Amino acid sequence: MRRLIDKLERERCLTREEWIALIASQAEREYLFAKSKETAQQYYGNAVYTRGLIEFTNYCKNNCYYCGIRRENQNVKRYRLSREEILSCCAQGYKLGFRTFVLQGGEDAYFTDDRLAAIISEIKSRYPDCALTLSVGERSKSSYRRLFNAGADRYLLRHETANATHYRSLHPDEMSYGNRRACLFALKEIGYQVGCGFMVGSPGQTAACLAEDMLFITELAPQMVGIGPFVPHHETPFAKESGGTVDLTLYLLALLRLLKPDLLLPATTALGTIDPKGREKGILAGANVVMPNLSPTGVRKQYELYDNKICTGDEAAECWNCLNGRMECIGYRLVTDRGDPAKGSGGKNVQCNVAKSGRIYQ
Ligand code: SAH
Repeated sequence: MRRLIDKLERERCLTREEWIALIASQAEREYLFAKSKETAQQYYGNAVYTRGLIEFTNYCKNNCYYCGIRRENQNVKRYRLSREEILSCCAQGYKLGFRTFVLQGGEDAYFTDDRLAAIISEIKSRYPDCALTLSVGERSKSSYRRLFNAGADRYLLRHETANATHYRSLHPDEMSYGNRRACLFALKEIGYQVGCGFMVGSPGQTAACLAEDMLFITELAPQMVGIGPFVPHHETPFAKESGGTVDLTLYLLALLRLLKPDLLLPATTALGTIDPKGREKGILAGANVVMPNLSPTGVRKQYELYDNKICTGDEAAECWNCLNGRMECIGYRLVTDRGDPAKGSGGKNVQCNVAKSGRIYQ
């Protein structure tokens, strides 16, 4: 296994069989974590980038088997934020130091290109120094282009799984891996900084599926990859399935850091949900982004993609302070610039302190 980890570090590329072997055996976890942490330090120092997440609608036309806001869940109170509410989330976030806003939501037909483009250009004209990320699912290429021209800089669209059969087992027939993939390549071609990603431990996921995820990420070469454990939601067909583990999530974060050293890699809320120290562990394994919630407290509980989601009762400022404290405890610090991907061997413009607490504690 050390040989494969060394090869990944050296060549930034493995074959399908090599990925399967490395993912199936976690025999050299500490060896891998030492390298992934060092790589993150080399590229990003002790900086942890913050993205302010605004969950602006939980209406969704899709019916993904894993997701708590799927259209068939009748027991979720639907909401959408008004333009003014979205702008006030940004104002609050800006004051706290956020320089990236992420507009995330279900696939909500109310938000036509016209409506979204108007919101995007208003945010960009008020906050020209901020990056704007969209995460609103699958749309047409012309729609993606329109939103890009309105000022959106980045787009997050998790591919969910790069195995077409596995994809079909997670989604109803009207969705397809082919379309998901085409959307990601279209986004890239238009000029967005792109994020893909997947859930760890989703039902039916095998080491071979994860190997295919790694190969897809190698091919797409996104700027960001969002991964977090699958967490069952009680109102979905996957309510009784078991969730993903912290151990496997950390292991995959570390592999991703070695695969693409300058990757923007969030320690996700889902990881913080299944382990109270999940996000800290994620950063120590090689992640370098956190995405605190800026949504109004009144609606947070309704954007419940999975059970027991954390931070649903906290004000934005509390989230910032809490995360800041958590990062400081492990020797990292939240940074407030836009956090564009590092160019070359970065970390030069950020102070590079070796984290105080080196080991990933179990
Ligand atoms: N509609 C947008 C945003 C989806 S929500 C889109 O299609 O991109 C963001 C991510 O949450 C999803 O891509 C999925 O990977 C994750 N997610 C959904 N349900 C989840 C669950 N039960 N456990 C963990 N992650 C989940």
